[in-house]
Amino acid sequence: MPLTGIEIFKLLPKTNCGECGVPTCLAFAMNLAAGKAALDACPYVSEESKSKLEEAAAPPIRLITIGVGDRKLKVGSETVMFRHEKRFENPPGLAMLINDTMDNAEVDSRLARFGQLQYERVGLTLRPELIAVRDDSGDATKFEALVNKVKQNSDCGIILMSSNPDILAAGLKTCADQKPLIYAATKDNLDRVADLAKENACPVAVKASSLEELAQLTTKLTEAGIQDIVLDSGARTVRQAFEDQVIIRSSALNKKFRPLGFPTIAFPCEMTDDPMKEAVIASLFIAKYAGIIVLSDFRGENLFPLLMERMNIYTDPQRPLATTEGIYEIGGPDENSPVLITSNFSLTYFIISGEIETSKIPSYLLVKDTEGLSVMTSWAAGKFVADTIGPFITKSGIMDKIKHRKLVIPGYIAAESGGLEEELPGWEILIGPREGAHIPAYLKTWKP
Ligand code: SF4
Repeated sequence: MPLTGIEIFKLLPKTNCGECGVPTCLAFAMNLAAGKAALDACPYVSEESKSKLEEAAAPPIRLITIGVGDRKLKVGSETVMFRHEKRFENPPGLAMLINDTMDNAEVDSRLARFGQLQYERVGLTLRPELIAVRDDSGDATKFEALVNKVKQNSDCGIILMSSNPDILAAGLKTCADQKPLIYAATKDNLDRVADLAKENACPVAVKASSLEELAQLTTKLTEAGIQDIVLDSGARTVRQAFEDQVIIRSSALNKKFRPLGFPTIAFPCEMTDDPMKEAVIASLFIAKYAGIIVLSDFRGENLFPLLMERMNIYTDPQRPLATTEGIYEIGGPDENSPVLITSNFSLTYFIISGEIETSKIPSYLLVKDTEGLSVMTSWAAGKFVADTIGPFITKSGIMDKIKHRKLVIPGYIAAESGGLEEELPGWEILIGPREGAHIPAYLKTWKP
C-alpha cells in the first residue's frame, strides 16, 4: 500500500528549506502522496528513506511507451476518474488489426489505408498509432514474414498478438528494436512470455479471465522485475468490459491498488461483427478508460469520428486550444494586401485562415492573444477591444509590411470601430463579415 502524507513526512529531513518548491516538508509530503510532486525535487532525502518512498512517488497508473521515434505511443499516467477534475493525460492508441491468414492484397490495402487515413484539424495531425499483427495461422514463419512486412511499410507502433510464446519470439526477432507490445501473457504462458519481455525490453500485455486473476498475474510479473504492463481483463461483452475498465481505473486511483495500476487494452473488434457498432463501442472506451483500442479495420467513416472524439476528450478543459499571437501570411501577400484581425482561439484561427485561403486573395491575418477565447467571448471579457487591439497593431510590425492603413475587424466587434480609429490614428477600420463563410465574397471586393 502507498504511504500517507504523514508517513512520508516522517521520512523527510524536516528542515523546511523550501528547495523543493514548497515552503515546508509537510507540504511536500502531501504533494508527494497526491502524486503532484516528484521525489527527486528534494535533494536531501537519505537513501534509506528514498527506497521507502519509491512506492509513494510512483504514479497510480504507470506510463507505458510502445514503439520508438516520433510515432511512439505513450499511454497511462492518468490521475483522475473524470476529465473535469483535471484532465486526461495520454490519448488511447488506436490499432488496426492485420492477421497472418489474410491474403497479400488485403494486407497491402490495409497498410496503404493505415498510411493514408490522417486528418489535419486545428493545426494537429490526427491519425491512428498502432497495427496489431495477430497470429491466426499458428505458423511462426508466416507470422514473422507479416511482422516484417508491417515493419517495412510503416513506422507505426506494433502489437504482436499470439498465445504461443514461440510465435511471439519469431515476431520479436524481426521487430524487437521497434519496442512492440507483446500480447499476451496468460496464466498458461506467463513465465515464457515474461522472459521474452525481459530479454527484449518490451512492454507486455496480460490477459486474464477475471480481475482477480489479472491482479495475481501482474503481481507475478512485477516480482519478476517487469514493470511495463498493459491490462486485458478478458471481458468481451460490452457491459463487462466497460465495468472492468471503470473498476480498474478506480482501483488504481482511489484504492491505490498497485496490481491494477497499469493502462488497459480493449478489443471492440472481438465484441461485434458490425463495423458501425464496433466504432460506437470504441467510442465508449475512448471516454472510459482504455489505453489501447483495437479495431478490426479502419475506414474513414469509422476512424475520423473516433479521432475527433479522442482529440476533444483529451483536450485540457482548463486551457482552450490557442494559436500563437502574430502575423500570419496567407497566399503570399504584398504591401497592398488586406489585413484582417481575429482572436487566437484555435478553431477560429483555422476557420478564418481556411476561408482566406479559399478566397485566393493573398492576405495578412493578425492573430491577437485572447487567452484562447473566441471573438465574441474575448470581446465580452474585454480582451478583444479597441484599447487592447490598438497597441497590438502598433507593435505587431504589420505597418512595415503594408502601404495602406486599412484593418478589417470581425463583424461581431463592429462596436469597437470608433474606439479603434482613436487608438490607431490614420487607420481606416473596416467592418468585416460576422461569419467566416462570408469572408471569400468580402475579400473579392477589397481595394487597398
Ligand atoms: Fe523539506 Fe526537502 Fe523540501 Fe527542503 S527540499 S523543504 S528538506 S522536502
